[in-house]
Amino acid sequence: MSFKSLGLSEPLLKAISKKGYETPSPIQAKAIPPVLEGKDVLASAQTGTGKTAGFTLPLLQILSQNSYQKHRPIRALILTPTRELAAQVYANVKEYSEFLNIRSAVIFGGVNQKPQVATIRQGIDILVATPGRLIDLENQGVVSLKRVELFVLDEADRMLDMGFLRDIERIMKLIPSKRQNLMFSATFSKDIKKLAYSILNNPILVEATPENTAVEVIDQKVHRVAKNKKTDLIIKLISEGNWEQVLVFTRTKHGANRLTKKMINADITAAAIHGNKSQGARTKALAGFKKGTIRVLVATDIAARGLDIPLLPHVVNFEIPNISEDYVHRIGRTGRAGASGQAISLVSADEISYLRNIEKLIGMSIDVEIIEGFEPDPNASTEPIKPGQNRNRNQNQGQRRKSNTKNSGNSKNSSRNSNRNRNRRRNNNSSSQS
Ligand code: AMP
Repeated sequence: MSFKSLGLSEPLLKAISKKGYETPSPIQAKAIPPVLEGKDVLASAQTGTGKTAGFTLPLLQILSQNSYQKHRPIRALILTPTRELAAQVYANVKEYSEFLNIRSAVIFGGVNQKPQVATIRQGIDILVATPGRLIDLENQGVVSLKRVELFVLDEADRMLDMGFLRDIERIMKLIPSKRQNLMFSATFSKDIKKLAYSILNNPILVEATPENTAVEVIDQKVHRVAKNKKTDLIIKLISEGNWEQVLVFTRTKHGANRLTKKMINADITAAAIHGNKSQGARTKALAGFKKGTIRVLVATDIAARGLDIPLLPHVVNFEIPNISEDYVHRIGRTGRAGASGQAISLVSADEISYLRNIEKLIGMSIDVEIIEGFEPDPNASTEPIKPGQNRNRNQNQGQRRKSNTKNSGNSKNSSRNSNRNRNRRRNNNSSSQS
């Protein structure tokens, strides 16, 4: 399968080859042809699958077939839940449209609107936007959506999680009813399906292949540890493992700030990225992290959602998420586009039940390691094994003990294989049952 065989035009193929992509990812191979045919598409895909190119490439081809030279009304609207994702999608649009006569802009809140307004006034074909700023600028008469032909709703599940349903409904009333729609979501709840039915017209359903999902390619590990030892443990892991680029997740903004300070005190360059940080600070932190001047980026779930940091080698859950799906999103920051990566979770006694739920969701138990000097609090209650828990999970309770962190590097492959084997076993079991 090649990009050419998907029917993409020469200027796009040139841009793709400049990016270094050789073959389309599964979601691209499945989504690009129906989009080019003008069909509505509902795609189940999360970040890391190549979904952005999956909608951007055919969208650019459609728009470039009928290029407006003088007056440029906005013909494509791409809606994203977060500012960071909007900026990344826009960066992709710019790269893929390098050899086309297409103009684009991005708008999001938290920054001065003046430069955004100036770009829009010059005339653009594609607008990438977060809902709040879009409604704001539409109200001000800066943005007109009356000529939109293509509408993309990216990360629809996160849109709903962030409470954007009303805004989306408002925006839908501002764009023509005759249009092509593309909707991407990592999960499909009842609410997402309802939203899909209200937006899409007879959509083609597209799914990224399960082999491509993060949990398969990522080496996952749990460190059981006392709560008050977590900071020392993460500093030890980063320092002794010589980890150069680490994304750390905390549950709260306050926790992110606190951990960042402690890292800096330990001579590890770090920055926090969360909703209370200004857009400028967030962009600067992300740029520093990508460049390598910042070694550790400490983030909350919402801030990290959709961040495109290629080949991120380490993700650490400083606190394990209480929403199991967030675990999959978090570890999806590593092992991107087929590259392997390591995801480590620091789990204290009070988080065990969250871990169990995650294991249930991903269908595998995660290897556990205890490092000497960082043992779980002996006084913390061990969770009783509940009826119905599977054998793997019970085995997991028998935690392998390792004497130092140096061993953990050696255990990488065996750990990955055991994850894979378990997963395979699970698949075999489920197929034999069906
Ligand atoms: P996305 O899921 O759109 O955030 O993309 C995840 C990462 O995969 C980004 O760094 C893309 O640049 C990269 N990517 C997208 N498509 C391909 C491809 N066909 N081959 C290799 N890398 C890709």
